[in-house]
Amino acid sequence: MTSAIHILDSHSANQIAAGEVVERPVSVVKELIENALDAGAKHIDISIEENGVPMIRVRDDGKGMSKEDLPLAVLRHATSKITNIQDLDRLQTLGFRGEALASIASVSTLEIISRPGAEISGLSYTITGGETGVLQEVGCPAGTSVTIRNLFFNTPARLKFLKSKATEFGLISDTVGRLALAHPNIAFSLAHPTQTVLQTSGRGDLKETMGAIFGQSLARQLIAVDVQGQDWRLEGLISPPDLVRKTKQAQTFMINGRVVRSSFLSNALEEGYHTLIPVKFHPIVALHLHGSPSDYDVNVHPTKMDVKFKNEQELASFITKTVYQTLLKSRPLPSFRGER
Ligand code: ADP
Ligand code: MG
Repeated sequence: MTSAIHILDSHSANQIAAGEVVERPVSVVKELIENALDAGAKHIDISIEENGVPMIRVRDDGKGMSKEDLPLAVLRHATSKITNIQDLDRLQTLGFRGEALASIASVSTLEIISRPGAEISGLSYTITGGETGVLQEVGCPAGTSVTIRNLFFNTPARLKFLKSKATEFGLISDTVGRLALAHPNIAFSLAHPTQTVLQTSGRGDLKETMGAIFGQSLARQLIAVDVQGQDWRLEGLISPPDLVRKTKQAQTFMINGRVVRSSFLSNALEEGYHTLIPVKFHPIVALHLHGSPSDYDVNVHPTKMDVKFKNEQELASFITKTVYQTLLKSRPLPSFRGER
């Protein structure tokens, strides 16, 4: 009898993995920006056509890729960032799974143009639908530019699942804003032919970066937090109790330069506001945790946005206490006046 089981060809395997890594255009934007950050870029310029499906381009002035590395970069499980699973305990990069470019290349036309600073000329590498790419010499600035065209051209189900153009672009600008908050020392620009453009200076000022996203008058009211605990340092900006929103959209949580989504962190934060804000309202924050990569795990989902903490209870009380005490110190709170 012949066997019923066979190993999927790499093209099919990549397309299946793409389903998890590249859910929608914003996922591509996030992965490309994270690669630019890992490459040590100081300037990251993003341009988007429509909802990102016709074109997404991310340009950086990072270290670039060599002629040898270019074709490897789009292979699945190909990464320069880790060599084994133990490396995750001392991870300094945002990427480590080596599957973003392979996944993106399997559902689009991907063009990488790259030049390491020390080289005279650069190279372009174009690959469509995960087929073998074409390498060409080109003149270009030092750094890397990745352009994605016709996203999901061979996966019509994905295209159908996308929301309106404005919604998809909204998700992109939201994500660019959060990544800019995680890296105030990097200058970001987001260009779109018809919609508002985001630009940050890269001067390293978080308040100024919040201002670029939410407006300077809101940013001016935010309260600085910076406390070193036993395992973690918590740093960033939180809104006073009278500056609140009806959703948690304006909350950004970051760990060691990575934007994460975590209801655990959000709950610990809001616990710190205690009874100071009415129910169903939420503070505006950008909070960054700095600590050892061995104290948490980001290898929970292919998007690397979910985290599991080793000492959840300790971290939660550290955050709650820090937020509460920072609010107390920032100004006398009305509800406490009577107790003095
Ligand atoms: P990962 O980021 O997990 O390593 P990716 O598929 O995103 O996997 O990228 C594969 C590799 O390509 C990276 O490890 C890196 O060496 C290289 N690379 C990708 N983007 C860039 C970039 N903008 N600048 C320099 N190198 C890059
Ligand atoms: Mg990556």
